[in-house]
Amino acid sequence: ATPTSIMVGTGRAAELGILFRKGEALQTLRSAQLVALDKTGTLTEGRPELTDIEVSTGFERLEVLRLVASVEAKSEHPIADAIVAAAEAEGLVRGPVDGFSAEPGFGVIGNVDGRSVLIGADRAMTKAGIDVAAFNTTASRLGYEGKTPLYAAISGQLAAVIAVSDPVKGTSRQAIRALHDLGLKVAMITGDNARTAHAVASGLGIDEVVAEVLPDGKVAAIRRLKSGGRTVAFVGDGINDAPALAEADVGLAVGTGTDIAIESADVVLMSGDMRGVPNAIALSQATIGNIK
Ligand code: ADP
Ligand code: MG
Repeated sequence: ATPTSIMVGTGRAAELGILFRKGEALQTLRSAQLVALDKTGTLTEGRPELTDIEVSTGFERLEVLRLVASVEAKSEHPIADAIVAAAEAEGLVRGPVDGFSAEPGFGVIGNVDGRSVLIGADRAMTKAGIDVAAFNTTASRLGYEGKTPLYAAISGQLAAVIAVSDPVKGTSRQAIRALHDLGLKVAMITGDNARTAHAVASGLGIDEVVAEVLPDGKVAAIRRLKSGGRTVAFVGDGINDAPALAEADVGLAVGTGTDIAIESADVVLMSGDMRGVPNAIALSQATIGNIK
């Protein structure tokens, strides 16, 4: 493309709320074959709500929620906010926490009232030697419903399965349909569990799912998607999306996301509206078309 056509193209894009931080991204985007998107905060609102708690025999629902919310109050994860909000809605008073620690991609742990409270994904429980099989049936049902099942262990005993649900953005489905109409494949990359990821992806018509990716695993996931010379665009919003945004042929950051994601991206979608993704690609194709 000529400098003039790039200027016209990026100008048009800006009117649509799409900021090209690098002019050359307009050309690379034109050859994109696959668009990979982060799930939480990109395809979904990123504001999960607690939907279910099922406790083990001998545990009391509100007491489990109180203990778990006490620990989660120390975490900044959106899942933690959902749990803390649910406890507040029940009028529960959180206890003081010591020995708090968070393991990204796994969960959090801390001591409340002299009891150790662990909450997180099944892999966090497995790592702590806690068997979650008692909740297998419930957890798979929750996953098929597109909810994220989490487990709570109190003093080393499996105490509850807790689900959070993060609504899909209204624009995500339309965006994916438009990407398919432009002839692209669509993938989703997420740290969430596989069943939940597949449920959300199939509702959206997504072609490929990479789930249970640890925070530092997104770069490797992008590399794998790029193999065979496929041109890959990645769309993300979070701190742990930043390296993947840089690794992709074109990185598109959601403008409502974290600063580090925006700084690592070639393109910024000013609003959280996912239709900005096919719009950016359509525009890149039109820009090149104009100067042929
Ligand atoms: P994503 O950004 O895709 O949600 P993360 O790596 O942040 O991925 O989290 C992956 C999984 O780790 C979550 O789905 C959850 O099961 C678990 N997890 C992470 N942080 C917490 C937390 N504060 N409380 C409970 N579970 C957590
Ligand atoms: Mg995200």
